[in-house]
Amino acid sequence: LLKSKVTVVGSGNWGSVAAKLIASNTLKLSSFHEEVRMWVFEETLPSGAKLSDVINRTNENVKYLPGIKLGKNVVADPDLENAVKDANMLVFVTPHQFMEGICKRLVGKIRRDAEAISLVKGMEVKMEGPCMISSLISELLGINCSVLMGANIANEIAVEKFSEATFGYKENREIAEKWVQLFSTPYFMVTAVQDVEGVELCGTLKNVVAIAAGFVDGLEMGNNTKAAIMRIGLREMRALSKLLFSSVKDSTFFESCGVADVITTCLGGRNRKVAEAFAKNGGKRSFDELEAEMLQGQKLQGVSTAREVYEVLSHRGWLELFPLFTTVHEICTSRLPPSAIVEYSEQKPNFS
Ligand code: NAD
Ligand code: 13P
Repeated sequence: LLKSKVTVVGSGNWGSVAAKLIASNTLKLSSFHEEVRMWVFEETLPSGAKLSDVINRTNENVKYLPGIKLGKNVVADPDLENAVKDANMLVFVTPHQFMEGICKRLVGKIRRDAEAISLVKGMEVKMEGPCMISSLISELLGINCSVLMGANIANEIAVEKFSEATFGYKENREIAEKWVQLFSTPYFMVTAVQDVEGVELCGTLKNVVAIAAGFVDGLEMGNNTKAAIMRIGLREMRALSKLLFSSVKDSTFFESCGVADVITTCLGGRNRKVAEAFAKNGGKRSFDELEAEMLQGQKLQGVSTAREVYEVLSHRGWLELFPLFTTVHEICTSRLPPSAIVEYSEQKPNFS
């Protein structure tokens, strides 16, 4: 029996934790090669050393996941083509804005029998409309792509605190089982659902809701207001997902990727944290500046996703149907003050 070989494309905060999770399983499961390659976007650390060399020497991603051993069978590789060439299971996990460039570089460089999974929360907007990252991967590389999303703050999973996740797939059950096996551990419980679009849209759109929750925190509006924002956000997530893909299932919003990810990201995520600082500063310091200062190289997804969602909504004439999504973008671009996050509904009566 041929063993599967896994490469993780990406090595940020979640990418590093994903590599650790996977590597703990490939050591135990005989159907996988033990070694897990992890592509590192190379950078020089303040010490002058290369990040990939330091990861291989210390077994830690000292920049994006300090203090956590990844497992000896994780090998950092700064050469993208070399990292993917032998793999038949490709795990994509970089900030969404880099995915199109990465996929273009990979055309013709991967195994023909490769299968992919995307852990990336985000989308691209094309002339034809929104393009989910899993579709970008499938279309550019000509391979299948499943998704894994959920209430998964990376630093908590890194120290093996229990969480759930949702695996979204199209049809092939055998491949689905293999991916679930690769990710599942006693502290990481993966549930499979046959709704790629629903799972991926949950993971993508909740980042916009988290920005709104951060504004509410920055304005010190309290728990009831934040709960209201989360509820309205979840409702807009479901409405937009169903308008974009009629196949999306209601039940998906009750999985880890739906309501649970909204909750955890609105309580403890990076989007929330930076949006809180933005509102505290009355919108006077830009998200780019705050991101660079507060996240040390880690990236926000919510601000660009709000812009991408806004483009889709305005193009289709749906802006008025999605007041929360629309308002988040208008606040991010300084057209409205942060306090507008709870003012949008005053003109119209609201019915649930
Ligand atoms: P991150 O924000 O920690 O790190 C940024 C990464 O981008 C680094 O690896 C950096 O080297 C890389 N990078 C910077 N410039 C680049 C370029 N030009 N080209 C390619 N790479 C570049 O990353 P992350 O937390 O691993 O996030 C990846 C995805 O996972 C995102 O879509 C995020 O929403 C999702 N996610 C994150 C978490 C979390 O808790 N961190 C949890 C679940 C999902
Ligand atoms: P942030 O990017 O806001 O930290 O969210 C992480 C996440 O996706 C948790 O599931």
